Amino acid sequence: MGFRDKITRRIPIPRWLHSVQHELPFVVCTVCDGRLATSGLFTIMKSFRGEECIFEMAICAKCAEAEMDKWSTASRKAARDFRAARREHQDGDGCETCGADLGTVRGVAVHAHCRAGQLLAVTHMCTTCEEALHERLSPKTREENDRFMRTHFPQPPWMYETPTPEPVLVSGPSTP
Ligand SMILES: [Zn+2]
Ligand SMILES: [Zn+2]
Repeated sequence: MGFRDKITRRIPIPRWLHSVQHELPFVVCTVCDGRLATSGLFTIMKSFRGEECIFEMAICAKCAEAEMDKWSTASRKAARDFRAARREHQDGDGCETCGADLGTVRGVAVHAHCRAGQLLAVTHMCTTCEEALHERLSPKTREENDRFMRTHFPQPPWMYETPTPEPVLVSGPSTP
């Protein structure tokens, strides 16, 4: 591991963040089919119930930004406020938002921020927090999220068992 990798703590994307459906690392963006290796930053999103992955996708930064642009101002603010609550728990072992023990939560949503096969950072949220965030989104944003899911997952992947609620696209705009 090079010095730069060491100080930035970059590691190759681990196997648990590979596509369960394809049994390979994610290669293309779920939205635009662009190659992730050359598209700069991208995000792998997975939802787990226990050890089982029930939803997964990868989205390039360009598409994530385009989707976030569709969020209403109220939803952006709600997501921002929600993330602010994370600060007091983010250094603990539990859910980054509420501090709940990850061994006892119903499920976890994981967002892994990557570039060129390297994992840069992982954020996560327990299912209860995900539902709480979903509740705070405006009807327009929820509709937009539903439309996104219908468009890109018309035939839900085998592991997708209609979690309630549908996974929130991205845990909020990346910049306030
Ligand atoms: Zn894309
Ligand atoms: Zn939580």
